Amino acid sequence: MPRPDYKEIATTIVNDPASYKICLVCGALVDQSADTCPDCAAYRFDADPKHVADCAIDLGTRPPSAVTHLDRPA
Ligand SMILES: [Zn+2]
Repeated sequence: MPRPDYKEIATTIVNDPASYKICLVCGALVDQSADTCPDCAAYRFDADPKHVADCAIDLGTRPPSAVTHLDRPA
């Protein structure tokens, strides 16, 4: 599977932070329309666009191998 381009994703989110929210359990950036986190199934989110943008910038500047647990081989 190709590795997702986090820089591109981050840019998309920074430009439209109101469409995303942050999972309060695992810190994943989740689409605003999602009821539960696709990563950990949590249902508590931080929907503050300012926090979302900060989190996205952080995501875009980290090396891909360090972004999430999902990148590590099983
Ligand atoms: Zn989560």
